[in-house]
Amino acid sequence: VPEVPSRAEVVGWDAGDPLAAVRERYLIPDPELIYLDGNSLGRPALAAIEALRHAAEVEWGAGLIRSWDDWARLPAQVGDLLAREFLGAHPGEVVVADSTSVNLYRLLVAALDHRAGRDCVVTESGNFPTDLYVVDGVAARRGLRVRRIAADLDEGFEPGAVAECLDDSVAVVTLSHVSYRSGALADMERITALAHEAGALVLWDLSHSVGSVPIRLADTGADLAVGCGYKYLGGGPGAPAFLYVRRELQERIVQPVWGWFGQSEQFRMSDRYEPRAGIGRFLVGTPPVLALRALEAGATQLAAAGTARLWAKSARLTGLAVDLTDGWLTDHGARLASPRDPARRGSHVCVAHPRAEELTARLIEGGVVPDYRGPERLRFGMAPATTRFVDVWDAWDRLRGLLAGG
Ligand SMILES: *Cc1c(COP(=O)(O)O)cnc(C)c1O
Repeated sequence: VPEVPSRAEVVGWDAGDPLAAVRERYLIPDPELIYLDGNSLGRPALAAIEALRHAAEVEWGAGLIRSWDDWARLPAQVGDLLAREFLGAHPGEVVVADSTSVNLYRLLVAALDHRAGRDCVVTESGNFPTDLYVVDGVAARRGLRVRRIAADLDEGFEPGAVAECLDDSVAVVTLSHVSYRSGALADMERITALAHEAGALVLWDLSHSVGSVPIRLADTGADLAVGCGYKYLGGGPGAPAFLYVRRELQERIVQPVWGWFGQSEQFRMSDRYEPRAGIGRFLVGTPPVLALRALEAGATQLAAAGTARLWAKSARLTGLAVDLTDGWLTDHGARLASPRDPARRGSHVCVAHPRAEELTARLIEGGVVPDYRGPERLRFGMAPATTRFVDVWDAWDRLRGLLAGG
């Protein structure tokens, strides 16, 4: 049985944590609550709440339609912020718009048109449901084949498994960077290179990695990506998503929803669609201004914490969760259902147990909030800006108690 730190030891880790003060810049109305679902819905930054209030009272209330000059710049402005701080992308390669599902659809269709003549899309069996549905829906309409890499529920998949699905019929490979269930982290660099060797485009879903692990879109040569604004980034419920298009592709691919926010010289109200130069052509309709202000403030605060510190803390938090699972829970019929190698996982881990669904409900009743993810898994998300080491220790202690109590 591995050595497990004492509660006093992990309290000491929190005291020495350079991110400890960052937690105070979040709204935490119930300090007793142990919240381990920040990978589904991040906590609000105080700055995000203030930005919402300011946007409503000053920009909307006082500025009225005169505020549109500033608001119209927001999708690209927040896109550039995400590109620089979290995505390893260049300015002008990211824009914030719509939902992840809609962006995935739009970029997938654009990529397929660009690779017309090829009739296969590659994804993986454990991908997030909306990703699988979007792929199947597009494939059904266009009469394409879908190959799903048979991924391991706990370990994800190796680049070799992607390679086995590739040949010259594959138009697009679309995968999640971090698996929503196990937290398994895909090798973006290697997989992107393999897809390119086969002549396919790659479309990454970064929803569960953005804000918790380093991402290097430009360096890896990734073509396209989408991701969520309301998870680690802290944009709030319903925050818009982002999309990334590598600069060289922006004017070569055509997204399928032509709307007036993608139009050059929008307010000349031309009756013919002529897309703007650059990433702006991937916008469609009126942006959700209030939600963009919250996302901008939340992401700015997260970035200010220092991304290198965030990544390091995230690995230590999940490392503690792994050690506590091995040390305390395996005797009770539970086991780790996530990669053991810290370099192969994101910022959440799963614990598998036959009664996981009931245990999740019991934990929530007792003030610990994980998530249930079938089959038979408790999922714990560690948001590095707001989760303390002692939160992890206490949550595992409660779970150990529930398991021991039968
Ligand atoms: C959370 C998540 C989504 C959410 O999609 P929406 O359209 O924003 O609801 C999509 N894909 C992945 C991988 C996710 O984790």
